[in-house]
Amino acid sequence: MQLYNTETRRKDTFTPLKSQEATMYCCGPTVYNYAHIGNMRTYIFEDLLARTIRLNMPLKHVMNVTDVGHLVSDGDEGEDKMEVATTREGKSAWEIAKFYEQKFFEDFDALHCTRPTVISRATAHIPEMIALVKTLEEKGYTYRTSDGIYYDTSKFPRYDALVGRSRLEGLRGGARVEMSDEKKNPTDFALWKFSPKDKKRQMEWDSPWGVGFPGWHIECSAMAMKYLGPTVDIHCGGIDHVSVHHTNEIAQSEAATGQQYVRFWVHGEFLVLRAGKMSKSGGTFVTLQTLRDKGYDPLDYRYLCLTAHYRTQLEFTYESLDSARKSLQILRHEAAKAVETAGRQPAALTAALEEAKNRFRAAMEDDLNAPKALATVWEYMRGAELNAAEKVEFLRFVDSILALDLFRAPQPEQSEELPPQVQELLQQRAQARAAKDYKKSDELRAALVAAGYSVKDTPQGQKTEKIK
Ligand code: AMP
Ligand code: ZN
Repeated sequence: MQLYNTETRRKDTFTPLKSQEATMYCCGPTVYNYAHIGNMRTYIFEDLLARTIRLNMPLKHVMNVTDVGHLVSDGDEGEDKMEVATTREGKSAWEIAKFYEQKFFEDFDALHCTRPTVISRATAHIPEMIALVKTLEEKGYTYRTSDGIYYDTSKFPRYDALVGRSRLEGLRGGARVEMSDEKKNPTDFALWKFSPKDKKRQMEWDSPWGVGFPGWHIECSAMAMKYLGPTVDIHCGGIDHVSVHHTNEIAQSEAATGQQYVRFWVHGEFLVLRAGKMSKSGGTFVTLQTLRDKGYDPLDYRYLCLTAHYRTQLEFTYESLDSARKSLQILRHEAAKAVETAGRQPAALTAALEEAKNRFRAAMEDDLNAPKALATVWEYMRGAELNAAEKVEFLRFVDSILALDLFRAPQPEQSEELPPQVQELLQQRAQARAAKDYKKSDELRAALVAAGYSVKDTPQGQKTEKIK
């Protein structure tokens, strides 16, 4: 498999360090709020990567849950996001973490992202983090300020490994402006922060340096190395993590072990809105629930993500989500048609079927080229190279990677051509039924009848017909 490595800045052939199993660490959610669909794009790309690797070898996949220590700015300024949420919601930090972690995994599962082999919460690994800071202290990489224990980045020569020398200089220049007097270098970062003197934190622990909490970066280093050893095959995350979070992870881990920390750094580009960045703090915050409320299925969104390569920005619009939904419906119709035509006849292992699978797989193994893989699927479903039984077999293979539920019964085809106001009423009725609001659902049925359409509820959803 070819995989683009942020560190080498080119596609390299991926082989695992240990022949029996590949290892992958993915930065997980900070559970102080709902995840937005931008976050979920990153988990979908990581899932595609995990599924594709597993075609060739077993994979141990670790993902953390950040439930402490991620400050409002990715530097070391501002409050802990978890503590901010306690003020916002009037709940304890522990309740908040539990609630949003559960919500996160509901979305994660609904998008058919495979659960990682290990899911590790930061708050359950404080001793490992303290031990790692201790090692860094013994090796002379740390210093103390009035608010914590810091990492001295000038002592680590490979600090520019991910961003490159010139960009690092630019970042340093920018950071200098807001740098606290006590930091030695603008890029230095907190390993351990002391609890404030005037306020009791809800999440705090004893340490050799005083009561406090871990820095966000040390969490990932400690958990990745605990479960996967000093050298990890693949480390993933969104592109925003390159210059600070992952750069700091390398510095901490390699200074502590003297070994290479990560062999392949793989970063996903952002999902953006026309209005700009998707952010939890601004008003531009779309969640999977927002899409569900509008009548979309989570897998419509997964399909949309597959239409763009993970290293290109994807602009989110409802028009593109509509067209993803439509494509997915058509593909499910094609699957149903193939199943019906094939009957009980099993597919023979023909050269044509092998070639179809190989072409799909080759696209995925070329740095996860999902758009190309999808185009291959369409080509074979529309073409005559495969007979019906082979098409069924091919789609089974495809769906083991794309995970789009291609054999789910499709919605009745005619609903696509309904007038917009009828579609809107149907969507509202689907929502009302999902919320078990049958009174509203009956009212909406009456509105549909008034608009000239009857509606029947079937296991595949609502079926509409024009009243003659
Ligand atoms: P967070 O919960 O903020 O720590 O982020 C979880 C994951 O989502 C990280 O891998 C981020 O890099 C990634 N991420 C954040 N914003 C976006 C976005 N707009 N598009 C894609 N990925 C994102
Ligand atoms: Zn991380």
